[in-house]
Formats: sequence, structure tokens, C-alpha cells
Amino acid sequence: MTYQTVNPYTNEVVTEYPFATDSELQDALALGAQRYEEFKTQPIAERGALLHKVAAALREHADELAKICTVDMGKLVGESAGEVELCAIIADWFADHSEELLRPDSIETIATGEAEVRHHAVGVVMMVEPWNFPYYQIMRVFAPNYMVGNSMILKHAANTPTSAKRFCEIVEEAGVPKGTLTNLFLTYDQVTDAIADPRVQGVALTGSERGGKSVAEAAGKYLKKNTMELGGMDPFVVLGDANMDDVTNLAWRVRLYNCGQVCTSSKRFIVMDNVYDEFLDALKKNFAAVKPGDPLDPATTLAPMNTKRAKEKLQSQLDDAIAAGAKLAYQYPEIDSDGQFFRPAILTDIDPSNPAYKSEMFGPVAAVYRVHSEEEAVALANDNPYGLGGILFAGDPDHGAEVASRIETGMVYVNNFMASLPELPFGGVKLSGYGREMSRIGQLAFVNEQLIVKAAHPDLTNPAGGLVVA
Ligand code: NAP
Repeated sequence: MTYQTVNPYTNEVVTEYPFATDSELQDALALGAQRYEEFKTQPIAERGALLHKVAAALREHADELAKICTVDMGKLVGESAGEVELCAIIADWFADHSEELLRPDSIETIATGEAEVRHHAVGVVMMVEPWNFPYYQIMRVFAPNYMVGNSMILKHAANTPTSAKRFCEIVEEAGVPKGTLTNLFLTYDQVTDAIADPRVQGVALTGSERGGKSVAEAAGKYLKKNTMELGGMDPFVVLGDANMDDVTNLAWRVRLYNCGQVCTSSKRFIVMDNVYDEFLDALKKNFAAVKPGDPLDPATTLAPMNTKRAKEKLQSQLDDAIAAGAKLAYQYPEIDSDGQFFRPAILTDIDPSNPAYKSEMFGPVAAVYRVHSEEEAVALANDNPYGLGGILFAGDPDHGAEVASRIETGMVYVNNFMASLPELPFGGVKLSGYGREMSRIGQLAFVNEQLIVKAAHPDLTNPAGGLVVA
């Protein structure tokens, strides 16, 4: 593993970065701990004002950041620009709402006095982030934790180092003090060293099951609270009375957006028998209409994958699925380019023994299943090791919500695509991980929920006050 920007459209090695030294890590820990101490007495509104400045700075640098992201990992430049704007929205939202979100919660109690839970910062958070949304993944942890008063050390993916570096520079240029969010090109061992350090009191990882297990193991060993945002095989369920114009207009987009490299991409389309043929025909037609090309060209609609390695892995998964009996219902024609393009494909007839049935395909491959009842649709959606998100289309949204609540995932959107917004909790169950990011739930991931019970005097006549419980 080396930190390198390799443009997946041209294969050019654009920049290489040396690993961080151990003393750089020690300096970052020391400065992070110092910021945490200072934040304890700083009015939260001051951090809110700086976070608004971060949002403004990101918008000011939107074109530059979009280009950096596209060169790092290949996504369409319009998608990169959208990601920068989403980061600014998240920053503004936490700047505006954190004071209220972090207000103490009072508790009705039979204890003598008034009880409340206060939400205090805990220290330095070690964050480990993936390449597929190089900026948004940072912001999901940075904005809420900065407002809480935690500082952060970032280890970003080896293939998006320039995005990580520039994002953190812009945060500092906007006025956030050095040491609040430090990007370091760490080795895996240095990540473990950071987790072991007593100044680190939280660990947030977004990534694969493999990366998640290693980092969660280190967090467990050193008893550090952690959140894990891992992979997904999200179902897209189409009930028999769904509006098929809406369904067909959306289905291809939610599979091909970011070249299919999204944890919450719809990876399994579970379609009722009466609309199955119409669905499949439309999906083929829409997959066939994409236009591969330079992702920096706004006219391009199919981007390359993020690396050659990712493309090769997906190809071998597709080959294995077909060898195990799946039918290749469609694949895009050959693409005349040396870029890391993967020809969008549609698989059908995947039976439960096929490796594609339970393994995440992180790229533009859609798996389509035919079902004959809602029960069968729900059972198929749930017969999966992952439980991140999902989409469900139904003629009646209320009925759709009832069916959605039987799907074992952390999020389901009815008659709409998944929109990740700061006010909405994001996360999953099963192998998709645990904990939530964003919203109040996510903001409280790394806080000391300190109980304060305040009385004028002890009251030994009070049934609880008369008891000593330790
Ligand atoms: P990955 O290999 O797990 O990498 C994610 C991050 O973890 C990278 O920074 C990686 O560093 C680091 N990492 C991996 N192993 C590590 C270890 N032993 N110690 C320390 N750091 C380690 O994930 P990926 O395959 O690149 O990312 C795609 C996966 O992320 C997919 O499964 C996708 O579904 C999931 N994802 C989930 C969410 C969510 O919110 N639930 C969002 C986006 C993506 P290196 O790059 O240096 O290896």
C-alpha cells in the first residue's frame, strides 16, 4: 500500500506521498489533545461560526475540489461537484443545529433532585475513511465531532490522498485551528498505534468488512468505542402496483451513480412477477444509453472504476457468478479506452448457492430477481448478510412503509432514492456494521453521556434516596 493519485481514466501516476513518520503521528496526537482541552471552555457558537466558514470555503473551492476528486478516483465531475456541495450542506447544518442537539437531556426520576444527561466531548477520534466519497466521508465525521469538541486524526484511503490533503487544508484555511482535523498518510500499524493511545477515545471507520474487522479488533483490544459503516447489498423492491415510470427512471441511476461504487447502491432488484419483464427491458435500455468517456467532461455519463484492481475484482466476481449458473441478461458493448471502464452488466437467475447471491459487487453490475408475493420479496431482501439500506416502490406509500419496516436494514426509502442528509441517521445492521453517522444519533457517537443529579440536600425519606446502590 502506498499513497498515490493514479488517474483511473489515463492511468497516469499523478502524485505520490510518503508515509507519515511516527513523530508526525505523535505531534498530531499531542496537538489534537490540546485542541480538545481548549474546546472544553470555548463557546460552541464559536465553532459554529468557523464551521459555516468551512462550508463557504468548500463552495469557493468547489471546482478545484471536484477536479481533484475526479482525478483521484474517477467519478464524474458533476458528481464530484455535488459531493462538495453536500459537504457544505452538512457543515452548515451542524453549525446551525449543534447547540440545540447537544443540549442536556433532563430525566424524570424518583431520585432526590434534578437529573440530566450532559453530552461532553471525549478526546481525539481516529477516523479511517474510504475513497468512494473522498470528501463526504470526512465531513460526516468531522462536522458533528468538531461541534461536540472532539479533535480528529484522519487516515484516508491510499488512492485518494490528494482529496484528503486538500480537504483538510481548506478546513484549516477557513480558520479551524491546526490539530483539529489532521490528515496523515498512516500505515495500518500506525492506525493501531493511534487507537492504542489513551488520548484517542473514539474510532470511526467507513469501509469494507475486511477493513472494518481489523480496525474494530484493534478498537476492541484497547477498549475504544467505535462505529463501523461497512458494505451493503441493498435491495430495491418493486411491488406489483408500483408506478413503473418512476421505477424505471430511477433504477439504472441508483445502480450506476458513482459507477456503482456506493455502499447504498441498489445492488439487488427484487421485482414482482407482473412487472418483471417491463422492469428488465427498461433497465437494459437505460444501461445501454450511458456514454463512457473522460469523467472531467460534463457530457460523460459512465465513469471508469476507481482502480485497475477494483475493476479486476469485479470482473472475477462476474465470471464466478456466470460460472455458477447466473444468466448475463445484458452487458454494455466493448469500450475503446485504456481507462478502467467496466461494462455495465445485468445478472438474472442467481440462485442462493451462487457466490453473487451473498457477496457485494462494488461496481456497475445489477442483480435482478423475480418474486411472486410480498412475503417472498421481504424474505429475499432479508436473506442476506448485509443490512444497510434499501428502496421500495409501492402504489400506496403507507403500505410501502409497512412492507419497508419488515426489511432488516438501517434505512429504507419508499418511492424515492436514498438521500444522505445531515438530519437523517445513516448506518446499518448485520455485516453493514453498527452505530450511526449524521443526525443527533450520529453526533452523540463519541460523547461522554454524563449523568448529573443535582439536589440541595440528601433526602433519606425518599425511597431511592434512602438506598445506597453502588
Ligand atoms: P477498505 O479496504 O476497508 O478501506 C477503507 C479504509 O480502511 C481505507 O482508508 C483503508 O486504507 C482502511 N483500511 C483497510 N484495512 C485497514 C487496516 N487493517 N488498518 C487500518 N486501516 C485499514 O474499503 P474499500 O473496499 O476501499 O471501500 C469500499 C467498501 O466500503 C465497500 O464495501 C462499501 O460498501 C463500503 N462503504 C460503506 C459505507 C457506509 O457508510 N456504510 C460508505 C462507503 C463505502 P487503504 O486504502 O490504505 O487500504
